[in-house]
Amino acid sequence: MTRLLLATNNPGKVREMRRLLAGEPFEVVTPGDLGIALDVVEDGEGYADNAILKARAFAEAGQCLALADDSGIEVDALGGPGPRSARYGGPGLDDAGRTQLMLRNLTNVPDGERGARYRAVVAVGWADGRIELFEGTWEGSIGRETRGTNGFGYDPIFRTPEGRSAAELTAEEKDAVSHRGQAVRAAVRWLREQS
Ligand code: IMP
Repeated sequence: MTRLLLATNNPGKVREMRRLLAGEPFEVVTPGDLGIALDVVEDGEGYADNAILKARAFAEAGQCLALADDSGIEVDALGGPGPRSARYGGPGLDDAGRTQLMLRNLTNVPDGERGARYRAVVAVGWADGRIELFEGTWEGSIGRETRGTNGFGYDPIFRTPEGRSAAELTAEEKDAVSHRGQAVRAAVRWLREQS
């Protein structure tokens, strides 16, 4: 079975990627499984640049196929934070702190102007440096308070078009529509076609 290294240290992403790859013909491993401690500096301009940086670095370190995701939330009223979502508000904040800061920064934004989307670019990298890219987008809006306890990151304040919070969705419901679900499924389809 082809070994596939998840090129991330984010436990939320590892959980989702493992679910999305369950039943597929890959031996899914994490950096920890291979004893790889790699903190890639994500200094690319956009999602694709950062996904490529991570896929290349982990594929080389593991000498196997690597799957990297670079993702973020794009809030119309903020013009971002996009690829910088993990660092929104500076290094002192955790997921809950970033979520609260975003809610505060949107306090005066009316309901009709709170549009937002999650975006993900998945890069599949080979040990020889080859790369293939896949994308996914999930449209929604930002609520006025946190709701739900599932998921990670901005999920408690992200609202689906039906008005549910992403953290209120079950794992299966999120995977079926999420930006990461779309991008990982496209990558898996493409990899299957190659074999
Ligand atoms: P990066 O791809 O490692 O730069 O981090 C992406 C960041 O975007 C995460 O740390 C979260 O803050 C946010 N993000 C991306 N996808 C999701 C998601 O599915 N739910 C919640 N937050 C997300």
